Amino acid sequence: MKSVLISGAGIAGPGLAFWLKEAGFEPTIVERAPALQSGGYVIDFWGLGYDLTERMGLIAEINRIGYHIREVRIVNDAGHRVAGFGTTVFSELTSGRFVTLPRSALSRLLFGKVKDSVETIFGDEIVELEQQTACVSVALKHAGERRFDLVIGADGLHSSVRKLTFGRHSQFEKHLGYAVAVFEASGYRPRDEDVYLMYGEPGRMLGRFTLHDDRTLFLFVFAAITDLPATLEAQKKLLRDLYGRGGWECTKILYELDRADELYFDSVSQIKMQNWSRGRVALVGDAAFCVSLLAGQGSALAIIAAYVLAGELGASQGHYEQAFANYEARLRSYIGDKQRGAERFAGAFAPRTRAGLYFRNMVVKAFAIPGLARLAVGRDIADRIELPDYQARALDRLASA
Ligand SMILES: Cc1cc2nc3c(=O)[nH]c(=O)nc-3n(C[C@H](O)[C@H](O)[C@H](O)COP(=O)(O)OP(=O)(O)OC[C@H]3O[C@@H](n4cnc5c(N)ncnc54)[C@H](O)[C@@H]3O)c2cc1C
Repeated sequence: MKSVLISGAGIAGPGLAFWLKEAGFEPTIVERAPALQSGGYVIDFWGLGYDLTERMGLIAEINRIGYHIREVRIVNDAGHRVAGFGTTVFSELTSGRFVTLPRSALSRLLFGKVKDSVETIFGDEIVELEQQTACVSVALKHAGERRFDLVIGADGLHSSVRKLTFGRHSQFEKHLGYAVAVFEASGYRPRDEDVYLMYGEPGRMLGRFTLHDDRTLFLFVFAAITDLPATLEAQKKLLRDLYGRGGWECTKILYELDRADELYFDSVSQIKMQNWSRGRVALVGDAAFCVSLLAGQGSALAIIAAYVLAGELGASQGHYEQAFANYEARLRSYIGDKQRGAERFAGAFAPRTRAGLYFRNMVVKAFAIPGLARLAVGRDIADRIELPDYQARALDRLASA
């Protein structure tokens, strides 16, 4: 029980490969993209996921690359501040261990920990998967047939391993009623270092975040049905239709969008499953339990789940079914809390009515009252779970053998 095929080199995939290697396994990663991606969107990062990357020796680099946002500012049509809050509450609640960085940068750092020791096949994917008594036989689109003891799907919200093992996506995907689009531009003005700006109209939110190297990131979150356009041109057209008459910097930002070659565009969804494993196949990260961007913690959860899954496999001495059961038992209620928190927050991100927007802004204004922000976000920001120290346990087992 040594060889493990991991589908996906995002966040969960390289994290899992690292901890599996530590536990004595032989992981292989297959990643559909031809290379690691760059750019994309930024993520807030804190809590136990942050602690685990510190154990992996990555935290100095994460903080060097990352941003330390000091203010979230909501602006009106004219660009004037109507509400907002300083982010000291997050620093206080996390003892300063809170950073914002590109998801692709975190992925690259995690991958850097395994790139020299783990076989990685880029530009390929699993197209067939058959569980046998002693192994899983997979067909890779380009590299042909291979056999592994276990297969783990770390291939994100639209996981192929989930589809091949558990069936169609629609059984598990819960659409939260919004879609998200993100792109980057160079040379945009104005710049507001370390401030997250948000502009809202009913059912539509547009965010702007100043990046290093004269880059700027734009985030659209809007009320949407599930049938989203698939081509870049159709996606841009939808955004133009939705934001074209908006105030603030909407016109300028749509001008930048017209020139963009890359646009991240997807529904805001969660994944809810009865089980995260079947036989020799298990899921981790967004593939198993996507909490959505509204939780602001999906990457950290992917890292935590990768650590627990590898730890339980390492401790199981070949009893993979027991390891998968323990992995789920440890994390299910914790992840469920995070999913419920994101669902509660959905309406506040892009309220659907003017009254809703006004009410949201009033609540945000009230964050200035000492203690209130802490009360409002404290519950969702906390990680109410203790993780086992699997390495210490393994040493104990060796000592008593
Ligand atoms: C706009 C936005 C903002 C977000 N903000 C935050 C935030 O503030 N904080 C936070 O912690 N999280 C945030 N998230 C969520 C976070 O990005 C995800 O939860 C996290 O990336 C999940 O990691 P993962 O490894 O499970 O999946 P992913 O990061 O999606 O990685 C999946 C990988 O699998 C690959 N892949 C896909 N299909 C296949 C296939 N068939 N075969 C092989 N490889 C495949 C993909 O190319 C990718 O490399 C945000 C998400 C979005 C969309």
